[in-house]
Amino acid sequence: MRLENKVALITGASNGIGKASALLFAQEGAKVIVTDINDPAGEATVAEIKAGGGQAAFFHADVSKASDCEAMIKFAEDTFGALHILFNNAGIMHGEDGDATSTAEEIFDLTYAINVKGVFFGCKYGIPAIQRAGGGSIINTASFVAHLGAATPQLAYTASKGAVLSMSRELAVIHARENIRVNALSPGPLRTELLMNFLNTDEKKQRRLVHVPMGRFGEAAEMAKAALFLASDDSSYMTGSEFLVDGGITAAYVTPE
Ligand code: NAD
Repeated sequence: MRLENKVALITGASNGIGKASALLFAQEGAKVIVTDINDPAGEATVAEIKAGGGQAAFFHADVSKASDCEAMIKFAEDTFGALHILFNNAGIMHGEDGDATSTAEEIFDLTYAINVKGVFFGCKYGIPAIQRAGGGSIINTASFVAHLGAATPQLAYTASKGAVLSMSRELAVIHARENIRVNALSPGPLRTELLMNFLNTDEKKQRRLVHVPMGRFGEAAEMAKAALFLASDDSSYMTGSEFLVDGGITAAYVTPE
């Protein structure tokens, strides 16, 4: 088991990538703190882990609130004695996010509050805990959109993921000699609620798929495997990376018919 004796906290773990990672990390021996704003689904993730013989606990935390983030880290240490792995994964893609002229300031601020400040708050309170544990691994969920521009815009989202990449890089450098690794996970387009709600017609889905060399959306479970690699000692010489797991979308100029 690759995460034996480790405590992992995952934000946005009620659904999608976060949930799949919580299940996989627990299978690999980690004690998992599941956090989210969706309490019933978070409790269901915990129940599923326990049914499989793993250890987990749910904590309600809105990552855009500093006090919630401070409390979730304390909960992890109080519940399982330490924190080694912090997966800042919670994020939103707002349906009214568009180009510069159409995006309302409120939508931009909301996206930043969750996608950028959420990662900042996780690190602000999580890094001291990981230092107390003697080191560990931080994973911040970015996106392929931080690498490519799209004519179907989501400006606030795209900018927020660029911020996650640059924050991750700088934190990696700052903490490199403290046995703390910080990597971004940059998924391609996935078949999770987040993107399927945004691409809410077959035409919109097809328009996105045209650009993916593999010709399909990725699965949350495929991101969980990448996150496990970053969380575990298998990636022991890796920090400050942007870890693209994207079906080849960032490599493509023209895709197969
Ligand atoms: P998802 O919608 O399936 O899950 C996201 C989870 O985050 C939900 O459980 C939701 O309740 C939670 N959440 C939302 N706001 C929150 C808040 N303020 N505080 C705490 N939790 C909150 O989405 P997903 O596809 O699993 O996305 C996870 C991460 O991956 C996000 O950061 C997203 O931007 C990123 N990502 C997704 C895709 C994709 O195509 N789906 C691609 C690249 C990156």
